[in-house]
Amino acid sequence: MKPETIAIHLSNQVNDLNHPVIQPITLSTTFLHGDESLIYSRMENPNRRTLESVMAALEKGSDAAAFASGNAAGMAIFQALPLGAHIIVPLDMYHGLQKQLREIVNDKLDISFVDMTDLDKLRSAIKPDTELIWLESPSNPLIQISDLRKIGVLAKERNIRLVCDNTFATPILQNPMEFGADLVMHSATKYIGGHSDVLGGILVTRKKDAFWEKIKTIQAIGGAVPSAFDCYLLCRSIKTLPYRIKGHCENAMAIATFLESHDEIEKVYYPGLASDPGHQVARSQMTGFGGMLSFLIRGDANRADRFVSSLKLFSNATSLGGVESLIERRARVEGPDSKSAENLIRMSVGLENVEDLIADLNSALT
Ligand SMILES: *Cc1c(COP(=O)(O)O)cnc(C)c1O
Repeated sequence: MKPETIAIHLSNQVNDLNHPVIQPITLSTTFLHGDESLIYSRMENPNRRTLESVMAALEKGSDAAAFASGNAAGMAIFQALPLGAHIIVPLDMYHGLQKQLREIVNDKLDISFVDMTDLDKLRSAIKPDTELIWLESPSNPLIQISDLRKIGVLAKERNIRLVCDNTFATPILQNPMEFGADLVMHSATKYIGGHSDVLGGILVTRKKDAFWEKIKTIQAIGGAVPSAFDCYLLCRSIKTLPYRIKGHCENAMAIATFLESHDEIEKVYYPGLASDPGHQVARSQMTGFGGMLSFLIRGDANRADRFVSSLKLFSNATSLGGVESLIERRARVEGPDSKSAENLIRMSVGLENVEDLIADLNSALT
């Protein structure tokens, strides 16, 4: 089956005596002892099973584990690593996961931050005992592209586990396992949920090895699991994911093109633009360029803030991947330790009519 069909049919697995067309939400925390494999909802729940199976199929993996948030999914991987393990992670990495590495597991893991767009830098960061390479492509907030194919080959040669945070691309635009990733991570809070009203995280594995068993134990016993209702909402959203993503890509491309030609804009970061350094690699590993873009507006932080607050259709809020357009000045959100330029603006392009969005941007710029 193709993604559109998987998204609709595997997100709905009815096993109910009343034969509803749509899978009900199973709120019960406990299940009758007997021949059924369900025991207690922290371990497994029917709605969570459905969410995990549709995500495993969309990512072309063999199994998935759902968590209460993207950060909980990321943490499960860091917790599954042996004490003192060396890992290589991107310099441009989701700041919440960086914070876990710098402030929570920094005394348990040996962590190297590397520019993943530079293969030589990655190669020279590898140690004989490197356990894991973490990728995020496209990355946040600079929308950088890592070469999944080349890094996949390198990781395989050195026998290093490869993880890809696929939140910005979603399984609709990119399947990192096709390029050798062993695990794929998602913040389901973003495009998979798609309506800015549910938190969730997903891990998908290529093979059910001992490392994966450890992750499943961290999920069930660690207990950072999503509720049945959250799983239901995510399954409901996944049904429209392929079509939402098409709309996000179309709108983002039009807006990136508009911004690139505008005099008040210094630089646009969007891999769909032929001028973008990641364009060729993105074309070779993605089926579309996504709905996220960043840009530098001419002027200082004040100018950037005034621009953001004069927009009418873009809400000034963090997060991304919802049907509504969001915009923010990154340095303001990331706080004093931010590496982002003060005039860097990140935009999550929504599914409004793109002419309305461009008209709004145009009037705020002039
Ligand atoms: C939001 C995000 C996360 C963290 O997910 P939460 O659901 O907020 O915990 C991780 N990676 C990326 C790329 C994200 O955008």
